[in-house]
Order: sequence, then structure tokens, then C-alpha cells
Amino acid sequence: MNELGVRKVISNRQLTKREFLRFCGVSLCGISSVSLLGLTETSYAQMAKKGLIKTKLSPYFTSLEGGEIQCELCPHRCRVAKGKRGICRVRENRDGKYYSLVYGNPCALHPDPIEKKPFFHVLPGTISFSLATAGCNFQCKFCQNWEISQAFPEDVYSYDVAPELMVKRAKEIGARSIAYTYVEPTIFYEYMEDIGLFAKKAGLLNVTHSNGFINPAPLKNLCKVLDAANIDLKGFTENFYHELCDGELTPVLETLKTLKKEKVHLEITTLIIPTKNDEMSVIKEMCLWIRKELGEDTPIHFSRFYPLYKLKTLPPTPVSTLEEARKVALSAGLEYVYIGNIPGHAGENTFCPKCKKMVIQRTGYMVGEVHLKSGKCKYCGKPISGIWV
Ligand code: SF4
Repeated sequence: MNELGVRKVISNRQLTKREFLRFCGVSLCGISSVSLLGLTETSYAQMAKKGLIKTKLSPYFTSLEGGEIQCELCPHRCRVAKGKRGICRVRENRDGKYYSLVYGNPCALHPDPIEKKPFFHVLPGTISFSLATAGCNFQCKFCQNWEISQAFPEDVYSYDVAPELMVKRAKEIGARSIAYTYVEPTIFYEYMEDIGLFAKKAGLLNVTHSNGFINPAPLKNLCKVLDAANIDLKGFTENFYHELCDGELTPVLETLKTLKKEKVHLEITTLIIPTKNDEMSVIKEMCLWIRKELGEDTPIHFSRFYPLYKLKTLPPTPVSTLEEARKVALSAGLEYVYIGNIPGHAGENTFCPKCKKMVIQRTGYMVGEVHLKSGKCKYCGKPISGIWV
């Protein structure tokens, strides 16, 4: 099962309740999106619709000759002719103007533990109301959510949820944050920004798990509402990004530096894939870069790869490889180095970099003992970077 649970595109007919609940990922969450949206069970079939398209004019495009446009949202800078769409599939040139096609239409909504994003230094043990629309600006061969990230918006079942309603429901279920995640959130930028403004007013944090492939101007604007970002640093060579993601490394590094400068809390995730990005010399180089440019207190999560999507022939990452990467990162001077996707591994816990005692104990997404006092180690008083209240 992927991160979102089983999520097949169901043929164009009314869903049975069972199909709908499965579609909502209830088996994973235990809470249905029906109740999250305040619907009765009888109205669920009307709520999730296939072919839902709500447009919003993009603030980031340049008009070119002949009605063509250039999108300025991400470094792909797609040139798009009239009636056509960009690489992400969710932005369309309509009569020389560029529109988002997914404003207010999430196809995934879940009350996730914030540890699942993963954030290990943001409000531990709290719920993050998590959402995504269809589409993505990368085409990673190892994508765990490819059924929505590589879909056209008209091909998935989506909900119609205005930004205010999203925030209202997040508050009602007791979430402390809203997470823009599962696909690359840049592609639903306008929706994310508007939810973010309402969330901020309502006292919720805005957090994102992103590939970091966004242009500097929209990123800086987004930082006004963003509290925390977990950026995938998928590899540390341009070759890796070209071959496996159809992307580029350099803009991602720039995003990381900008987030740091704008004081957005930052965590990094690297999925270690056997034979693709598991060379320890490259991992060391990456960790030294993180230390120099972002600081030694930047948490990094080394996640275990499982064979899926277009990389089904590779084996899962050996635990020993992840442990070696963790050692390399610690010896490069990084203070908070985690191992992900291996529930129960000691590398899930947070240790104080000064006295080395465990200050947060975790098993999978569950938080156990917490030994922090006002964001500091309870034993030696060292401040632990993060957002704790
Ligand atoms: S956001 Fe989409 S349309 Fe815009 S440049 Fe990126 S991939 Fe192309």
C-alpha cells in the first residue's frame, strides 16, 4: 500500500460506500474524509466527483507572442500554446491567460500524524490535516503516489473544498497544522496560498513536504505563510535528477538556502535507493553541503526505499545502508539524523547533540517519551531546533 492507501481511479459511475471509503484512505487513517468534510454518508456520492475542474488565474506567467505563455512558477518554465497544458498537467493556457485547474479540488485529504510528513521537530504527536490535488512537476520513477501525481485532474475523484472550509474542518478535528503534501504542492500554489492565509489567521501552522522545485519569486511570497518545510533532497547529482525525476538539482539547493534565509523551519528527506544514490562519498558530500549552507541543526531523514512504480526490479534498501548513511551524516557534523520507513529502529528517536540522551522517543508515527522543557533538552538545557509550542 502506498502512503495514501489503495487509490485506484474508479470508473465513471456512482461509488459504493465501500469504494468511496477505500478511496478516502479510511483503512489507513481510521477517519473518513466524509466525516472530515462534515458530510452525511448519503451525500458522499455527490461530494467526490470525477472531472471536477475549478480554475484560478495564475499570478506567475508571462504573455508571449501569438497567445503563447511562459509559466514562471517552477524552473521548468513551460512555454504553453493556447489550449495546451504545462508539464504538471494542471495548468492550462486559455486564450493567452494561464490558469490553475485544481483550485479548491483536493483529491486526497487525511488527518495524518505530523511525524508522517515527516516532521520530527514540529509539534510532536499532533495531527496535520494533509491535502493534495492531482498533478506534479516531477516524474520520479520511484514515486509512491504516482496514481495522483501523474494524473490529469479530470481523471481523479476530487472534492470541492473552499480554503475557508478546509481551515474550519482542520480546526474542528483538532489539527494543529495544515500540510501541503503527497504530490508537489507548487502545482496547486494558488490554493495552498489561500488556505495558508486563512490557516495563519486561525492559529494553525502551514507545513509542506515539497521537492523544492519552485522559482525564487513564488517561493519568497509563499514563505510569508509557511512555517515549516520538509524538502526532498532526492540525490546530490544532476545526473540523478535528470535520469530519475526529470528535474534538476541546482534549483532545489537554491530553494533550501532561501527557506533557511526566510527562517522557515527546515527538514530534509533523502530516500536511499540501492545503486542509484547510495554511494557514501556522495552522501558525505551532501551532508557537508547541508552543514555549511543550512546549519548543523538541520534534521535529515534517510528513508528506506521499497520497490514500486517504475523501479520494481530494485530491492528494498538494506538496513545496513541506512545505518551507514546515518553514521556518515553524524560524522559530517549533522546533529539530527533519522532513519525512516523502519518502524522501531533506534534511528527514529531524537538525541540531544550535547549530552547524547534521548529527548523524543518514537515508534513509527507514534510519539512516546518526550524530554524537552521549553524546547530545550531536559537533562542539559541545550536548545533543540524546531517548533515545539
Ligand atoms: S508549474 Fe507546471 S506549468 Fe508551470 S513551469 Fe512548472 S511544470 Fe510547467
